[in-house]
Amino acid sequence: MTLRLNGPDDALTVRLGDILGKDGVISDPVLLDRYNADPYGGTAGGARILLRPRNTQDVAAVIRICASERVGLVVRGGGTGFLGGARAHGDGSELLMSLERMNAIRDIDLDNCTITVEAGCVLSDIQAAAEVQNRLFPLSLGAEASCQIGGNLATNAGGFQVLRYGNARDLCLGIEVVLPDGRILASLSGLRKDNSGYDLRNLFIGSEGTLGVITAAVLKLYPRPSSIVCAMTVACTLEAATRLLALLQERSDSNVSCFEFISSGTLALVGEVFPGIHQPFEHSFGPVVLLEIWSSRNDAMDIAVQGLDEALEAGLITDAVIASSEAQRRSLWRIREAAPDMIGRLGWVVAHDVSVPISRIGALVDELERGLALRAPYNPFAVYGHLGDGNLHVSVLRPVRATAEATDQEAADLSEFILSLVTSKGGSISAEHGIGEDKVSYLQRHKSQGELDLMRGLKQLLDPTGIMNPRKVLP
Ligand SMILES: Cc1cc2nc3c(=O)[nH]c(=O)nc-3n(C[C@H](O)[C@H](O)[C@H](O)COP(=O)(O)OP(=O)(O)OC[C@H]3O[C@@H](n4cnc5c(N)ncnc54)[C@H](O)[C@@H]3O)c2cc1C
Repeated sequence: MTLRLNGPDDALTVRLGDILGKDGVISDPVLLDRYNADPYGGTAGGARILLRPRNTQDVAAVIRICASERVGLVVRGGGTGFLGGARAHGDGSELLMSLERMNAIRDIDLDNCTITVEAGCVLSDIQAAAEVQNRLFPLSLGAEASCQIGGNLATNAGGFQVLRYGNARDLCLGIEVVLPDGRILASLSGLRKDNSGYDLRNLFIGSEGTLGVITAAVLKLYPRPSSIVCAMTVACTLEAATRLLALLQERSDSNVSCFEFISSGTLALVGEVFPGIHQPFEHSFGPVVLLEIWSSRNDAMDIAVQGLDEALEAGLITDAVIASSEAQRRSLWRIREAAPDMIGRLGWVVAHDVSVPISRIGALVDELERGLALRAPYNPFAVYGHLGDGNLHVSVLRPVRATAEATDQEAADLSEFILSLVTSKGGSISAEHGIGEDKVSYLQRHKSQGELDLMRGLKQLLDPTGIMNPRKVLP
């Protein structure tokens, strides 16, 4: 899509100030730095004006002006996305909008088991509001203390509990969106069944701010589990690990809430970079799995002990530990959390977040490890992720004693190798993190023409002037 957008001028800034008030339009470069920054190593944005609406009507009024003046608008949630989706153009031609002032919990309906929230609510605040009512909002990810639910829905975030509760899309029953012409689409009834026409809500979830601004949502709540058991185990192979998952799901009535994995090579790197982190196994030649079983019947421990025993006898695993306190649980989780920290510490040449059917994960990792060892013999690589969802994070790291940086071409070749292998196994080039700005060219190469045409058609229909998050997802 060819964009001919205008930059914001002084007259436009005055009009926006009339709508949003003094605190609603920020142009102080020092304050703007925080909103343009990418704390996770990506390129910073270049917005010169930040808009801070107070309510949905403010958002609609701003968008009407952007549409009539053809000015691009980028929404930033917590800014924790990895792919530059919330990055405004470096030349200052796009407006940046933060919904941080729209952070009210509008309603909790305990009988309907729902919570209605504004899009600027920080994820951990929603979890806490649910907990006060003895309910669980199960979306959980490493960035939960700073990401916002609007960003979670816009990226269809996954995280640790997808196996048991689904991703952001599965947890959302209703949505309020401001369309690119300023109309408000409000569908906040919290219905669990509604087949009256096309499912418009799902069009906006995962659209990364390119089709409209999400301003509020109705989310599902669950009972809190009464027993949680956390275990770490060394599987013989990844195929054995997937069989262990099937076994535990069967024994636990599908109550395995997370099933994370770290390759033995990645764990060794974690040990080198963070020697202070206690690793429970002296030798782990196979993939290490971190799992939790959540139950409301106080039987999680029995299920875990019996299931792991059975797996040991069946030759699926070689070793296992079960946390006997919250402190031990935290220390097992620290090992899993240290994998992305280690990558941040060593630096990466390429990093991908991919998925394949779980049945193909063993073959994928095997071919990845052999192929990367050949193509980048001096670079360590890390493979870990949400095994239960078939979701792997694959990163080729900088050489520990760097002699030369990889060239852009070498990095592009490594990416192409990884992503082609993933698509050849029926997988997706982006499991959780979306496309943003940084993966637009990969989407072009790895999505079918039919899918791309339909996506472009939808974008054209909803946002004919291309003001919503320009340059993202589709070129
Ligand atoms: C330590 C760490 C761990 C992470 N773990 C996971 C994980 O396990 N699973 C996972 O899925 N992700 C994970 N992420 C990535 C990231 O946290 C998620 O993508 C998160 O959902 C982004 O939310 P955000 O509010 O920070 O959005 P931002 O990064 O601000 O924005 C992301 C995209 O959403 C758009 N957007 C934001 N708000 C709105 C809105 N209200 N309306 C329309 N569009 C909007 C932006 O324009 C942008 O395109 C992790 C990130 C970090 C730093």
